[in-house]
Amino acid sequence: MNRNEILAALKNKPEVSVLIVGGGINGIGTFRDLALNGVDVLLVEKGDFCSGASAASSHMAHGGIRYLENGEFRLVREAVRERNRLLQNAPHIVKPLPTAIPIFKRFSGLLNAPLKFFGILDKPSERGSIVIKLGLMMYDAYTGAQRTVPRHKFYSRKKSLAQWQQLNPAILNTAVYYDGAILQPERLGVELLLDAEGENPEAHALNYVSMVGGSEDRIILRDELTDDNYDVCPKLVINAAGPWIDFTNRKLGFSSGFIGGTKGSHIVVQHDELRRAIGENEFFFENEDGRIVLIFPLYDRVLIGTSDIPIEHPDEAHCTEEEIDYFLKLTHRIFPSLNVTQEHIVFQFSGVRPLPRSVAKTASQISRDHSIEVLSGDWTNLRFPVYSLVGGKWTSFRAFSEQVTDKALAYLGLERQKDTRSLPIGGGRGYPREPGGIKRLIESLSAWTGVARERLRILFERYGMRAESIATYLNGGTDFVLKTLPDFTLREILFLVHHEKICHLDDFLLRRSMHAMLGHVTREMVEELAGVLGNSLGWNAEQKAAEVRRTLSILVDRHGVRL
Ligand SMILES: Cc1cc2nc3c(=O)[nH]c(=O)nc-3n(C[C@H](O)[C@H](O)[C@H](O)COP(=O)(O)OP(=O)(O)OC[C@H]3O[C@@H](n4cnc5c(N)ncnc54)[C@H](O)[C@@H]3O)c2cc1C
Repeated sequence: MNRNEILAALKNKPEVSVLIVGGGINGIGTFRDLALNGVDVLLVEKGDFCSGASAASSHMAHGGIRYLENGEFRLVREAVRERNRLLQNAPHIVKPLPTAIPIFKRFSGLLNAPLKFFGILDKPSERGSIVIKLGLMMYDAYTGAQRTVPRHKFYSRKKSLAQWQQLNPAILNTAVYYDGAILQPERLGVELLLDAEGENPEAHALNYVSMVGGSEDRIILRDELTDDNYDVCPKLVINAAGPWIDFTNRKLGFSSGFIGGTKGSHIVVQHDELRRAIGENEFFFENEDGRIVLIFPLYDRVLIGTSDIPIEHPDEAHCTEEEIDYFLKLTHRIFPSLNVTQEHIVFQFSGVRPLPRSVAKTASQISRDHSIEVLSGDWTNLRFPVYSLVGGKWTSFRAFSEQVTDKALAYLGLERQKDTRSLPIGGGRGYPREPGGIKRLIESLSAWTGVARERLRILFERYGMRAESIATYLNGGTDFVLKTLPDFTLREILFLVHHEKICHLDDFLLRRSMHAMLGHVTREMVEELAGVLGNSLGWNAEQKAAEVRRTLSILVDRHGVRL
C-alpha cells in the first residue's frame, strides 16, 4: 500500500495491535521484528525515517571499547556480537573498518581505568599504551571464535610512521583493531522498513505523521503533509522517539524524565591529502581530557567528530564554531603537517544521543546501555501501556529490538516465530561472498538486462543485491542521465521515489543518497531534482518552488551548506 492507501485504511480500521512512535533505528528495528512475527503494527515518524539521532551517528558499528572502563562489559559483549552480525547481514552497507589509535603516552590511564571502574575517579584522561593493550585484548576475546574481523596489532613508532607518513612524529606507537563502518546508515534504516512491510501485509510505516496526543483507548495522529488528523486504537504503544521520548510521553499525560541527552556534532571535509594520509583507516583517539575524536574515511571525503555535550532540548542541537575549532585542532594534533581549515568543510551535522538521565559527572561516563521503561494507565486515563525505548546504539539496534519485541509479544499473548539474528537486510540478501562473485554477478546481470557493467557496478555499490530489481526497473521506460547528477539516471530516482517513501526533496538528498553529506549538492541540482521528483509526486510549480526553498534552508541552517 502507498501512503494514501495506508491512511485511508486507518480511517476505516483504527484498531492496531502495536503503534510505534518514532522511525529512528530503534523504532524501525522493533517494527521489523514485530512484523516478522505476524503482528499488525503501525509505525509513525514525524519527519523522515532516520532523520533524528539516527542521522547524526559517527557511522561506526562498534563494540565501544571505551565503555569497558565504565565497567559496561555486558554492553560491549552485546555490541561486538551485533557488530559481527551487521557485517554478516548487511555486507553491502557495513564494511570492516581498520581503526588506528595513535598513542602518545605509555602509562597514563593505567590507574584511571580500575579507579573509574570502582567509581573512585571521575575525570577522564588520555589512555596510555598499556591500558589500550588490555582493552583490545578483551575486545578481541569478545569477538569470539567467529573472527569476522582480524585481531588487533600494535605497531612500533617506526612502523607507524612508515605506514602513515603524515602522522605526528611525537607518537610512541599505534594500535590497530577492527570495527565496522556503516557507510549509509539512513539507507540501512529504509531497507529494514521495506523488508518488514514485504514480510507482513499488516505492517505499515508512515513518515511525516506525528503522534500529537491521546486519551482512553485512542491516539491522535497528524499527517504533517496535509494537517489531517487520524485516530488509532492500539493495544500497546512503543515510544521510540529517541531524544524526544519525554516530550512524547508528555503528549500522553505522563511526566517522565528518562532522557539526559548529549549533543554530538561532526564535520565532513574535502581534503585529498588528509584522505590519502588516512587510507582506509579510521583514526580513533582521545584528546588530553579523555574525550574521543575520530577521523573516518567516508567515500572520497573525511568525517571528523564528535563532541559529547549535555543538552536540554534536542531541537536546539547544531554544530557550533567552538566544536569546529575543536575538531580542526585535534586533526592538527594527529596530522600536524596537513592544513585542514574551515574552508575544507563541505557538510556538518549534529544530533542528540538519547542517553538515560544520569548523575554521572562527565558525559563520557553516562551509560550507553539501553532499557525499556514501562508506563501504564494507572497514572493517566490511557487503557494501554507505553514502553519507552531509552538509549541504544545503531550497532546494537537488533538486540534492543529483539528485547522489546519479546516483551511486546508476551504482553499480546503471542509466541515468537522467527528471529533476526542471521536475517540478511535489504540488499544484503544473497550478497556474493566468494572472490570474484560480485564481478560475475555484474556480468550476468549486464547480459540479462542490457545495462552497462559500469552502471551496474555503481548500482551494486549503492544498493547491494537490490541492484537487480533497480536494473530491471531501468529497462521499464525511457531513461537518461540527469544533467546535474551524471552518475544518476532518471529511472533510478523514480525507483527510489516509488519504492522508498520519499515525500520531500531533502529525503532524497540527505537520506536516500549521499549527495548532501559528501558535499556534491549544487543549486542547479536542487532545481533539476525538484522537477524530476515533482513530476513523479504530482507537485505543481508552486510546490516545486517551495521544495527548493525548504531544501536550501535545511542545508544552510542544519548543515552549514550555503548554495
Ligand atoms: C553524535 C552521535 C554519534 C553517534 N555515533 C554512533 C556510532 O558511531 N555508532 C552507533 O552504534 N551509534 C551511534 N550513535 C547512537 C545512535 O545514533 C542512536 O542511539 C540511535 O540512532 C537512536 O535511535 P532512536 O531510534 O532511539 O532515536 P532517533 O533516531 O532520534 O529516532 C526517534 C524518532 O522519533 C521521531 N519522533 C519524535 N517525536 C515524535 C512524535 N511525537 N511523533 C512521531 N515521531 C516522533 C523523531 O523525529 C525521530 O526521528 C550516535 C549518536 C549521536 C547523536
